[in-house]
Amino acid sequence: MYAFNFERAADAKAAVARLKADPDAKFLAGGQSLLAAMKLRLASPSTLVDVARIPGMAEIRVDGKEIVIGAAARHADVAENAEVRQRIPALAALAGGIGDRQVRAMGTIGGALANDDPAACYPAAVLGLGATVVTDRRSIAADDFFKGLYETALEPDELITAVRFPIPDQAAYVKFHNPASRFALVGVMVARFGSTVRVAVTGAADSVFRCQPLEQALSANFSAQAARGVKVDAGQLNTDLHASAEYRAHLIPVLAARAVEAAGKG
Ligand SMILES: Cc1cc2nc3c(=O)[nH]c(=O)nc-3n(C[C@H](O)[C@H](O)[C@H](O)COP(=O)(O)OP(=O)(O)OC[C@H]3O[C@@H](n4cnc5c(N)ncnc54)[C@H](O)[C@@H]3O)c2cc1C
Repeated sequence: MYAFNFERAADAKAAVARLKADPDAKFLAGGQSLLAAMKLRLASPSTLVDVARIPGMAEIRVDGKEIVIGAAARHADVAENAEVRQRIPALAALAGGIGDRQVRAMGTIGGALANDDPAACYPAAVLGLGATVVTDRRSIAADDFFKGLYETALEPDELITAVRFPIPDQAAYVKFHNPASRFALVGVMVARFGSTVRVAVTGAADSVFRCQPLEQALSANFSAQAARGVKVDAGQLNTDLHASAEYRAHLIPVLAARAVEAAGKG
């Protein structure tokens, strides 16, 4: 790890001003991805600007038909929050299934989204539930947020302050996890809003994506059987030491079917 400075931001404005003044500075939230990258010398920020303790930025609240989760909310906070558990149990369960206790005690939703690991769970929740990412300067629809491998619509000095999740009629997230890291080998979020169904897949490609064939099948017939009948093209999917593209393509409808079953029980 290279030497770096550490500062704690008093508020979002101060944090952003610090990065505007120094393009080599970086926000630090839970450190679960950034510190590992620094230890491996894959990242060498001049200054870490701690945004995890900005007052109010870890708040979780209900606002009409949405749940608003502050960017600094830890995975464990989301998993245990009574409002999230009651209104979007799929989101609480997803957060409770991330990594291990230490990762959940430190990692934040804002850090997970900014990092946009291709096998991360939160991107599937944000895209599957059609959430809105709120930053210090704008609101970004989930469909416009994820751009590619570790790439989002964020500007280098843009701070995520919160995420607004619409409350679905039914939803569930099922992942086939890597037993070592708990990251998703494939993870599928299914969410039903009336007759519209959104299906987001993580772990299978360079970035999270919506699976149109499953969305069409489930919008017509919200059943596990309909999900199982969908064939997913392996063409754009990843092959690595954990699984082939064909295996991942096979898993997607299988996990979607399990998610539909779980959503029915939720
Ligand atoms: C062993 C292990 C297992 C894991 N398993 C899983 C898993 O099963 N599923 C899963 O989804 N994830 C998993 N993770 C990743 C985990 O969720 C991380 O917490 C997350 O990726 C990063 O969040 P963080 O708060 O620690 O961010 P940090 O590491 O502090 O920051 C990550 C990046 O986000 C930027 N950033 C941080 N906050 C903001 C903000 N508010 N606005 C803009 N940019 C910001 C930072 O500058 C940095 O570039 C795992 C991690 C580990 C170490």
